[in-house]
Amino acid sequence: TSHHRVVVAGGGTAGLSVAAALLRQSPQLDVAVIEASDAHYYQPGWTLVGGGDMQAEDTKRREAEVMPDKARWIRATISAFAPDDNRVELASGESVTYDFLVVALGLQLDWQAIQGLSETLGRNGVTSNYRYDLAPYTHELAQSLTDGAKALFTQPAMPIKCAGAPQKALYLTADTLRKRGISAEIGFYNQGGAMFGVPAYARELDKVIASYGATPYFKHNLVAVDGEKHEATFSTDDGPVTRAFDMLHVVPPQSAPDVIKGSPLAGDAGWVTVDKNRLTHTRYDNVLALGDCTDTPNAKTMAAVRRQFPVVVAELRAALGESAKKRTYDGYGACPLTVAHGKVMLAEFRYGGQVVSSFPLDPRTSRRMYWPIKSQFFPALYWQVMLRGLDWHWPKPKPRPDLTE
Ligand code: FAD
Repeated sequence: TSHHRVVVAGGGTAGLSVAAALLRQSPQLDVAVIEASDAHYYQPGWTLVGGGDMQAEDTKRREAEVMPDKARWIRATISAFAPDDNRVELASGESVTYDFLVVALGLQLDWQAIQGLSETLGRNGVTSNYRYDLAPYTHELAQSLTDGAKALFTQPAMPIKCAGAPQKALYLTADTLRKRGISAEIGFYNQGGAMFGVPAYARELDKVIASYGATPYFKHNLVAVDGEKHEATFSTDDGPVTRAFDMLHVVPPQSAPDVIKGSPLAGDAGWVTVDKNRLTHTRYDNVLALGDCTDTPNAKTMAAVRRQFPVVVAELRAALGESAKKRTYDGYGACPLTVAHGKVMLAEFRYGGQVVSSFPLDPRTSRRMYWPIKSQFFPALYWQVMLRGLDWHWPKPKPRPDLTE
């Protein structure tokens, strides 16, 4: 058993930005990060990889390279949380104790919840931008489809990480096909009832999908895939429907990691229960959580983590008796919707579906100027600023009550 003043569970986007910021402000602090993987990914890049606009390798770094210098990396899989004993158990049988715990394990992709899917992923035209190794296949398929092809895109029940990613895959594929002069039958099979959770953006996206001649099918939930037969089956209010496909882009159902679901940290829905503005655990005073693993009702995005990590760091520093300006998290999230190659709608919002905008422009309008922001500025902001624990405030998103319903 080892003991650390602060233990960060998970060395992904959220875990590393907290660890880096803490150590930047308190270089002597004893911070350990428990992370199982030796690779670290810039997941928002996978949409661009699937569109053929970024190389997969550019979204990947070695974990050792991005781990803050002063942090102690415990390369292990967490098998259980025992918060009543201030202890985390590892798959190796060892355990780690702490004074403070930050939970940042992300979420779990439930591929096996869809019958027949795992066996056919990466073959038979079945792909997903939600996996590093599969995103390049999305672009391969867009380049190989021929006239009359059927391309299906699915979206599971919310919450998922980056709620816009399922339709981004559709738009970039449809744009590739359009540029190739291929006419395909494109369908968007969405478990939900609208294109987006925020009405002002949803109405705009209705127009975008229509501009490709693609059809949205709401209340269609993918339940089974037969790769050999090239058939996908959906549950609907009127019973199951089966559709043939040449290309199937799947976004799997998502949930809290099993190790959290089965722990005292979880609420009924499985996520870590925290105060939605302070990110402190609702029952354990020395536990905080951020990123995709919490029950806060914001969009699960890296953009949200960018606003959350300074709040967690301020709370921790105050608890450690160091001076810290109190911060609160307002539910900010953002979704740069790649509506075509070279064009982005920068949807920004916060708690309660409030529309906000970083620029003094109509945020519903897709613009060419946002493409280099998505494809170059955001990745640089991630590797150079966020992962170094630096807080980026500018420009400050301003509320747009005129667009909020
Ligand atoms: P992660 O970054 O996933 O990190 C979790 C870490 O915990 C991982 O490193 C994992 O290895 C580790 N871990 C898990 N379980 C254990 C365990 N038991 N033991 C030890 N370690 C463990 N966000 C945006 O803002 N904009 C976008 O455009 C955008 N697009 C996206 C497109 C796609 C295709 C995807 C998949 C995501 C996208 N996101 C986007 C979402 C963004 O990537 C996530 O919201 C963000 O990475 C969440 O950070 P996190 O630290 O909570 O989780």
